[in-house]
Amino acid sequence: MNQDIFDQYKDIQARRADFPILQREVYGRPLVYLDNAATTQKPRCVVEAMADEYYNVNANVHRGVHFLSQQATDLHEQARERVRKFLNARSTNEIIFTRGTTESINLLAFSFGEKFCQAGDEIVVSQLEHHSNIVPWQMLCERKGMSLRVIPMNDDGTLCADQLPALLTDRTRLVAVAHASNVMGTISPLAEIINAAHSRGIPVLVDGAQSAPHQKIDVQALGCDFFAFSGHKAYGPTGVGVLYGKENLLEQLPPYQGGGEMIKNVTFERTTYNDLPYRFEAGTPDYVGTHALAVALDYLDAVGMDRIQAYERLLTDYAVEQLRGIDGLEIYGHAGVSGAAAGTSEPVVSFNVPPFHHLDIGTLLDFQGVAVRTGHHCAEPLMHRLGVLGTVRASFAFYNTPQEVDTLVAAIEIAKQKLQKKSK
Ligand code: PMP
Repeated sequence: MNQDIFDQYKDIQARRADFPILQREVYGRPLVYLDNAATTQKPRCVVEAMADEYYNVNANVHRGVHFLSQQATDLHEQARERVRKFLNARSTNEIIFTRGTTESINLLAFSFGEKFCQAGDEIVVSQLEHHSNIVPWQMLCERKGMSLRVIPMNDDGTLCADQLPALLTDRTRLVAVAHASNVMGTISPLAEIINAAHSRGIPVLVDGAQSAPHQKIDVQALGCDFFAFSGHKAYGPTGVGVLYGKENLLEQLPPYQGGGEMIKNVTFERTTYNDLPYRFEAGTPDYVGTHALAVALDYLDAVGMDRIQAYERLLTDYAVEQLRGIDGLEIYGHAGVSGAAAGTSEPVVSFNVPPFHHLDIGTLLDFQGVAVRTGHHCAEPLMHRLGVLGTVRASFAFYNTPQEVDTLVAAIEIAKQKLQKKSK
């Protein structure tokens, strides 16, 4: 390991102390948490913000004349402004709070489908999507008699974006793609995809679940029409997510769910719907969660997104290099060494150690205190494309260290030896 390079990131590494859970042990070993693509751990300030709001402010938002309700409403609406800034959206009318990426995409699939889609129309997704960006579109296709088309993937895990223009037809209504793969970390060529779609007047949804925690997001610079992400993968609480949409598009969409908050007037004959963004937020929102998400975004800002990105990419390249040193280990994606530093992937590495089963490797890593994810990672079509049943996935956050990468590598070697002994 080139310690000098990592020493340049002592400010980032010092932040590890903000995450109490990282001090704990599992099975008598120090926890090495490498399942950050599933969810990140929370800094103390986020947890404390939630406790503080429940202890001192708690009241339902938007509805009360009383002091606490107004204070809670202020925190909730300030959080919307905080998210607007995080995404560099034009207006808070473009920021809809949801439960997470999954709900954001379901909302869009329903409302966009109701407004713009009919039998015979098409939606384009990609080979490397999470099920959350496949199934809601499939459900729309079933409801309306439409079909799904798929941007294929190269063997190295990159998307064949050059094939997108040929997939677009007069019946294509939307292109929905991940910003980064949750399995391989591969970053999609969004500029190329968005240009191709926009040249035919087709809007684009970006699933940013795996990019928002790792790089600066600027929805205006990206030029996407919709962008979804989950708070819990970005150091915020569970149960809060965001759908960004361009105001002129959102304005045309019908509501997703009915209930309180999303209306202006209700009679038994007729309901008029509220303005943006409330029209899409039926029921009591997770106002404690939205405030805590804002605290998490402030925290990310304080750490510095550019610093986080540079450090995580360095760490990922180090991990890929070390993992490549393990005899027989196969990595999916990460075509080039130093790919992450070159901006082609987020800090996610998937691998197998044939002939051993990913679950066996994952279980033996767990016994050594190393938390990874195994399985299909909610991306079965991608598994089929890779020709595997599942993978072991190590995914990093800025609080991870090169020493933890070394622990991972040593733990894989031990797991391999144990499995080799067993199979003899
Ligand atoms: N899309 C991608 C790329 C993801 O990685 C995930 C979470 N694994 C989701 C969507 C779904 O996110 P959530 O479960 O927070 O709704």
